[in-house]
Amino acid sequence: MSTTEAPLTDGFHLMIDALKVNGVATIYGVVGIPITDLARLAQASGIRYVGCRHEASAGHAAAATGFLTKQPSICLTASAPGFLNALPALANATVNCFPMVQISGSGGRGFADLQRGGYEELDQLAAARPFAKAAYRIAHVGDIGRGVARALRTAASGRPGGVYLDIPGAVLTQAVDAELAATTYWRITEPAPSQLPSMEAVDRALSLLAEAERPLVVLGKGAAYAQADVQIRTFLEATRLPYLPMPMAKGLLPDDHPQSVAAARALALAKADVVLLVGARLNWLLGHGEPPQWSPDVTFIQVDIDAGELDSNQPIAAPLIGDIESVTTALIERAPIHRLAVPPAWRDELHAHRASNVATMQRQLDENPSPMKFENALRAVRDVLAERPDVYLVNEGANTLDVTRNVIDMQRPRRRLDSGTWSVMGIGLGYAIAAAINSGDPVVCITGDGAFGFSGMELETICRYGLAITVIVMNNGGAYRGDEVNLASADPSPTELAPSAHHEHLIEAFSGVGYHATNPEELESALRDALNARAPTLIDCVLDPSAGSDSGDLTHLSPKSVVSPA
Ligand code: ADP
Repeated sequence: MSTTEAPLTDGFHLMIDALKVNGVATIYGVVGIPITDLARLAQASGIRYVGCRHEASAGHAAAATGFLTKQPSICLTASAPGFLNALPALANATVNCFPMVQISGSGGRGFADLQRGGYEELDQLAAARPFAKAAYRIAHVGDIGRGVARALRTAASGRPGGVYLDIPGAVLTQAVDAELAATTYWRITEPAPSQLPSMEAVDRALSLLAEAERPLVVLGKGAAYAQADVQIRTFLEATRLPYLPMPMAKGLLPDDHPQSVAAARALALAKADVVLLVGARLNWLLGHGEPPQWSPDVTFIQVDIDAGELDSNQPIAAPLIGDIESVTTALIERAPIHRLAVPPAWRDELHAHRASNVATMQRQLDENPSPMKFENALRAVRDVLAERPDVYLVNEGANTLDVTRNVIDMQRPRRRLDSGTWSVMGIGLGYAIAAAINSGDPVVCITGDGAFGFSGMELETICRYGLAITVIVMNNGGAYRGDEVNLASADPSPTELAPSAHHEHLIEAFSGVGYHATNPEELESALRDALNARAPTLIDCVLDPSAGSDSGDLTHLSPKSVVSPA
């Protein structure tokens, strides 16, 4: 280069500049053609690059980061197969309303469009579209800044979701004048602008609540995401309304809060006459708002950022469209005018039911079968975690998910991450990695032995980065349970996993610490040690193979043949 030529930059550097100017601090990914150098250069620039072992885990980590921080995080993948591996995470992020951006390198359009058999040829943009909130492709180096801005804005604003951003390898290597290039990217202003409800809508909602005989508030993971913890608590405590947290809203107020009716869930849903939904959809998780789970005469008020969500299942008598912080602030302001009061008969009924259910559950937890069942194992975990509100809990599985959700209380907001809207398996270690990286606090991932299989290789990632993650594998030797027998051949039954497995040896292969616990005392002691060590740990928790049921609480969703077996 002669001394008179202007300094050059290229697509790699522009992509990094555009991400950095927008505050992207971490990229989760798996390297490969054509983005290996992008990962290296991002790391060299000060962005934290976390290399996972499977793109789905990288995608789940980016999505969990979005949920925890309200900032879209990045999942970076190679072309075609690497790209495809991340799609389940992109779809899951979108379904759960978590902001993230999947950036995948791609091959030459000229090959893909004419199907010439190019290296890893695939129309990735078209393939991503059905799974993303939006999908964009950058065609020219000068559009990198615009593409990044568009992707981050779309992921974070309105109803958050997963966005796909395609970057052809040839664009990454395009060189341009550095001074001119610096004018092509920018920091987006207010990525998720506030959206205020009208006062008329607020008053309509409050007057319905004021007339209610059996009011109820349902807090969903949208409420946790909104980071309006103080406003939500202030509103609930000022009005003394009973509330029910959805699984990922647990801890928004401490689970032992006197107004929580989590332990009287069925009664609260069946009898409530006016229900305020805050960041919770009336989807399958809430029985679509239909009888018999709900009263046929129930009236719904719904707070959501997305007006298109309303009336998706039931009439919404009082829509409150806006962001949860603005809406709850308005509710707090106007509530005194409406003189909300919870009828004592309703409060007493809920309290009595809650006390009776808590006593029944305690009796179940106090039983001490050997080998362990889910209940006495999770009692031991509960006792340790009760003293550790700082711990993030990641939870997946079937029975493991159901029992853990009911047994383990959360004390702080956004400390519980779980299988979510799709009840999906495989989020476990990716979510755990994100929680550890973002918080620096210890993470406990309680996973079924079936669910663990979907992301188990990330044990190596956890060890490589020295993350304070403890994985507890609920080992009953099967998907659902481990005692099903195949009478037709010598093959294991469809639900069976290796009997007498020692999952702790898997983490030992990467110099992590493994424990094998066969009773609640061993489990409790292993968990205490693990949390104190703040090191990568796996506890293999041996359960009775007959513990658990088909699909856990979702047995009714698992179709059974109507014809009896031959
Ligand atoms: P859950 O599964 O806990 O019931 P859902 O995922 O069904 O929760 O619902 C979350 C809802 O929260 C979505 O409809 C989403 O549009 C909404 N939401 C997300 N963020 C916000 C926000 N900041 N303000 C208002 N609504 C939000």
